[in-house]
Amino acid sequence: MTTDPDCIFCRIVAGEIPSFKLLEDDRVLAFMDINPANEGHCLVIPKAHAPDLFGADDDSLAAVATACRRVADAVRRTLDPPGISLTQANGPAAGQSVLHLHFHVIPRREDDNLLFNWEPKPGDMDAIGKLAERIRAHLEQHPSGFVAVR
Ligand code: AMP
Ligand code: ZN
Repeated sequence: MTTDPDCIFCRIVAGEIPSFKLLEDDRVLAFMDINPANEGHCLVIPKAHAPDLFGADDDSLAAVATACRRVADAVRRTLDPPGISLTQANGPAAGQSVLHLHFHVIPRREDDNLLFNWEPKPGDMDAIGKLAERIRAHLEQHPSGFVAVR
């Protein structure tokens, strides 16, 4: 599998950097964003390193799409937000700061005034960890090839 030792998300995949993991299989990892745009903000990535949408192989992309729906569904069951956005940036001009393909799963409210290029602010790690636990509980209720991980 392609990996980049200097890439922060590859290092999360390798377990070298801690994360609040939500689900994992051989192709995909989902975890909490530690600078949440809104409460419950998650990331879904292919395990194979690809800088963006155009560098990813089709199988990884298909697996990521399926995982995005599962994570979004678990977030919906956990927080019951009025809306959920999935967003994905290609290139710094689009607001991409980590050059490993990732999809944001972001709970939305009508009045959250969230812009496409939001300003990252550090989250409350205790609250994020507790929320990850609640989302994982919903993931565990939906059996599939994925394993909810800690
Ligand atoms: P983007 O700006 O679209 O490239 O999104 C990158 C996202 O990765 C941002 O929302 C960051 O908050 C998030 N991020 C960066 N480092 C970490 C990390 N170690 N754990 C979790 N999320 C991270
Ligand atoms: Zn990477």
